[in-house]
Amino acid sequence: MNKYKCVSCGKENLSKDEIGLTKKLISRDATTFYCIDCLAEYLCVTTDELRDKIEEFKEEGCALFK
Ligand SMILES: [Zn+2]
Repeated sequence: MNKYKCVSCGKENLSKDEIGLTKKLISRDATTFYCIDCLAEYLCVTTDELRDKIEEFKEEGCALFK
């Protein structure tokens, strides 16, 4: 368990990927985080697209996803 939970739906124990994605797509300085479902809704994309993004960022070696 960690202290991060989705500010929108309240889902607890967000994954590193979800936290990284919030930082990458919303704000590097984000202090509130979204789960992948709420991020997808917020950004009007599908969760599959977000998962593809995560893989892309990892391949780029983005520090937020290590
Ligand atoms: Zn959520």
